[in-house]
Amino acid sequence: MTEVSRRSLLAGAAALGAAAAAASLVPPARAAAPAIGKQAAGVYRYKVGQYECTSISDGGRLFPIGDGFVRNASKDQVVAAAEAAYFPKGHLVFPFNPQVINTGSKLVLIDAGYGPGVAPTVGLLPARMAAAGIDPKAIDIVVISHLHVDHILGLRTADGGLQFPNAEVKVPTADWAFWMNDENMGKAQGMLKSFFEATRKSFAGLADKVTKYNDGNEVAPGITAISTPGHTPGHMSFAVASGSSRVLVQSDVTNIPQLFLRNPDWQIVFDMDPNQAVQSRKKFFDMAATEKAMILGYHYPFPAAGYVEKDGAGYRLVPAPWNEVL
Ligand SMILES: [Zn+2]
Repeated sequence: MTEVSRRSLLAGAAALGAAAAAASLVPPARAAAPAIGKQAAGVYRYKVGQYECTSISDGGRLFPIGDGFVRNASKDQVVAAAEAAYFPKGHLVFPFNPQVINTGSKLVLIDAGYGPGVAPTVGLLPARMAAAGIDPKAIDIVVISHLHVDHILGLRTADGGLQFPNAEVKVPTADWAFWMNDENMGKAQGMLKSFFEATRKSFAGLADKVTKYNDGNEVAPGITAISTPGHTPGHMSFAVASGSSRVLVQSDVTNIPQLFLRNPDWQIVFDMDPNQAVQSRKKFFDMAATEKAMILGYHYPFPAAGYVEKDGAGYRLVPAPWNEVL
């Protein structure tokens, strides 16, 4: 027997053994093809003038709707709104969608995702960047909209290295001041405390790569910061403009649109200054609706692109039509 055929025989025997072991654990399936059990690459390309942009899903998480998720709406109201949007009963699905913008001179990433080890269905940004043909080492600038866990932990690899080793990291001045204040951290409890810990983990030793930005600053060519505070003290959104085209990146001005665009007065538990967040939301979406600009939402259903229209006391999202033609 040749070495090659002996090896392939052994491999075949091992595969048969593994298949037999697996078969004993699961009920027999009717189809011969096994279920895959996860999504494939979540990548969507769109153009803004000359800029080529890529919406990338870092994944999503399913959570049961708990008491107090919306500060000023009852659990029953939230469950009813979720049901009206056809979420799994009593649950919400939260997507996470960083954006990559190639300006021609700079490769820019807006928000870094959850990073490794949080949950199996998030932290997928690196794998999906690979599927999109984007090398994390080629990212020149990571712009962080605000310093919440789901936007910053992805700055690090599983071993604590830098996921985007050649990138300058830009953070909102007011958010940096709040989250990097040890006195604020000392007073924090519960979820807020874990958020502070995530900021330390994400930015440890990164001070020489971090620069701060403010409202109206051009954080990268054609990408301008728009102050939308309330969700966090320094929460930022962005206008991305090239030629006569302009899209708006809304970060967490609203969380999932099925609830919070429909009900802009609803105060999600994560909004740190809820009244200010409501003001920012209405101002931002009145602008987006008037302008008819395409918006990208970090927590919008993938590919996270759509248009906002006024609808009664709230707004509605018209998803952007999938466009294969760039
Ligand atoms: Zn978020």
